Amino acid sequence: MAGKAKTAIIIGGGIGGLTTAIALRRKGIEAAVYERAPEIREVGAGLTLWANAVKALGKLGLAEAVKAAGAPGMGGSIRTWQGDVLSSLTSEELERRYGAANLGIHRADLQRILLDRLGEEVVHLGATCSGFSQDEDGVTVRFEDGREARADVLIGADGIHSTVRAQLFGKEKPRYSGYTAWRGVVELPDAGQRANAAFETWGCGQRFGHVTIGQGRVYWFAVRNTRPGETDAPQGRQAEVGRLFADWHAPIPALIAATAEAAILRNDIYDREPLKRWSEGRVTLLGDAAHAMTPNLGQGACQAIEDAVVLANRLAERDDAAQALLAYEMARIQRANLIVTQSWRIGRVAQWGNPLACAVRNTLFKTLGGALQGPQLNFILGYEVR
Ligand SMILES: Cc1cc2nc3c(=O)[nH]c(=O)nc-3n(C[C@H](O)[C@H](O)[C@H](O)COP(=O)(O)OP(=O)(O)OC[C@H]3O[C@@H](n4cnc5c(N)ncnc54)[C@H](O)[C@@H]3O)c2cc1C
Repeated sequence: MAGKAKTAIIIGGGIGGLTTAIALRRKGIEAAVYERAPEIREVGAGLTLWANAVKALGKLGLAEAVKAAGAPGMGGSIRTWQGDVLSSLTSEELERRYGAANLGIHRADLQRILLDRLGEEVVHLGATCSGFSQDEDGVTVRFEDGREARADVLIGADGIHSTVRAQLFGKEKPRYSGYTAWRGVVELPDAGQRANAAFETWGCGQRFGHVTIGQGRVYWFAVRNTRPGETDAPQGRQAEVGRLFADWHAPIPALIAATAEAAILRNDIYDREPLKRWSEGRVTLLGDAAHAMTPNLGQGACQAIEDAVVLANRLAERDDAAQALLAYEMARIQRANLIVTQSWRIGRVAQWGNPLACAVRNTLFKTLGGALQGPQLNFILGYEVR
């Protein structure tokens, strides 16, 4: 028997790692985060936090802080590139159905809230985990600079290219989705009035999304089918995205034109095939390390937040740390893997490139939109962490 966990090492200071450290410390488990970067810095983009994640953050006493920092009235529509509404839901309806606000927030604001709550002294920076070994009494973690650290359990929250995952289950390549995404953040005088007007617009092989993230800012993303590793056009990102979406409905072209070149990020989109297991003895995975998913449902960070609360609950309840990690895995793996798969599939449909298929898809969504989305929304947003 491994005994109750009193100490934990978390590898990775992303949203998953920081939230887990907060959740564990609230349960009296001494958790330390080890992050390879020399400073904690999120990318300059927005994030959707759906009701399922806001409810989970509520269990950590963080829901009010994220609502105050972000734009909580998120509701919106799916549209065609000409602007026809295919399906829509107001923020009030979403909140009534799922019992919490849905919101857009700047990633840096979320990270600041998490770090402030945790305390920066809990995060060891410039610490790149290179491997671990476990025995009957605990886990020893090794770092590239020769350091070692020891604790009762190890949590790999080290993202899609997780070192902990590779040691547990072998090295595998991530799966390329077939599309690349640009993301931008822009300050706009009328951003406050756009809160209930989030939208995702579907073309053929292209997509565009718009979400307000509070404090006068709008976050947008643009997606296009490409080969992996394609480089930026010589004229720059803003001009390239502007050209791709030039004749799309308002305010898309104006939004792109108002965004500074330096504020536009580009990433090819990958996920990982779902795993059958996350844990081995005193070691487990969390967040993207466990279930990297495409961003089509805006659930990657939301699922990491759910993981964090459930993991802390199981470790606090169980007298055997290894059994607690297994109980966490059993509570989480099926749900997270299903969302990986759903996200992959919806991305495929949203990125269809055949005009005829797109027309059929749009007609289906226009006639059946609510009926198609309802069960999925109930499953994802209706969830309560335990
Ligand atoms: C384009 C795009 C849009 C998205 N939009 C949304 C959205 O709207 N809503 C949502 O919920 N999710 C969204 N996601 C997903 C979300 O960003 C991720 O799921 C989430 O950030 C994962 O958090 P994490 O902490 O698990 O991993 P990460 O954020 O990847 O953090 C892992 C951390 O581990 C560190 N690390 C890695 N290796 C080591 C090592 N060996 N030693 C020490 N440290 C290490 C890294 O430096 C990093 O800080 C989006 C993703 C993309 C790509």
